[in-house]
Amino acid sequence: MAAELSIDCDVVVVGGCAGFSAAVSAAQSGAKKVKWDPAIRDGLSTQSKQSSLKVPKSNRALTIDEGPFMAVKVGCGVTFTFGGLEVDPNTAGVISNLTGRTVPGVFCAGEMVGALFYENYPGGSGLTSGAVFGRKAGIHAAEIVKTGAGQSKTSVSSRL
Ligand SMILES: Cc1cc2nc3c(=O)[nH]c(=O)nc-3n(C[C@H](O)[C@H](O)[C@H](O)COP(=O)(O)OP(=O)(O)OC[C@H]3O[C@@H](n4cnc5c(N)ncnc54)[C@H](O)[C@@H]3O)c2cc1C
Repeated sequence: MAAELSIDCDVVVVGGCAGFSAAVSAAQSGAKKVKWDPAIRDGLSTQSKQSSLKVPKSNRALTIDEGPFMAVKVGCGVTFTFGGLEVDPNTAGVISNLTGRTVPGVFCAGEMVGALFYENYPGGSGLTSGAVFGRKAGIHAAEIVKTGAGQSKTSVSSRL
C-alpha cells in the first residue's frame, strides 16, 4: 500500500504492520486484559515488557491484520488561536489599536477574530463564529460597494 501511495515505507510504517501487530499482541498477552474503548484513553498500547516500538501508540492500539485497508492522509491544523484581531461586534469591522475606531472597508471573520474565547471553547463555536462574523462582514462590505459610503481609495495600511 505504501508503495502504491509513493510513501517512504521505512518512515511511515515503523516496524511494518506485522511488527506493530506483534507489539499490540504482546501487550495484550499479560494477565490483565484491556478492553478497547475509543471514548477514553484505554491504555491498550504497543508498549510492554516483552515488546515496545520506537514510536509508541499509547492507547486504542489494535492489531492490523485484516483487510481491506484504507489510507488516510493526516495533517496538522489550527483548531483555535485564542487570540486575533478586535472587531466591531455589529459590523465585523476591524478595530485599529492606534485609533480605537474601525478601519474603513476592512473586515474580519473566522479564526482571525480575537477576544471571543480564552483557554477553552464550546464545541462547534469555531464554525458558528465564522458564520456569524462572516455574514456581518459580508453584509457591511456589500453595503459599501452598493452605496459607496465608507469606500476608500487609500491603501489599508494608511487607514490603520
Ligand atoms: C482538527 C480540527 C477540528 C475542528 N473541529 C471543529 C468543530 O468540530 N467545530 C467547529 O466549530 N470548529 C472546529 N474547528 C475549528 C474550525 O475549523 C476553524 O475555526 C475554521 O475552519 C476557521 O475558519 P477560517 O475561515 O477562519 O480559517 P481556515 O478554515 O483556516 O481558512 C483559511 C484559508 O486561507 C487560506 N490561506 C492562508 N494563507 C493564504 C494566503 N496567503 N493566500 C490565500 N489563501 C490563504 C488557507 O489555505 C485556508 O483555506 C476545528 C479545527 C481543526 C483544525
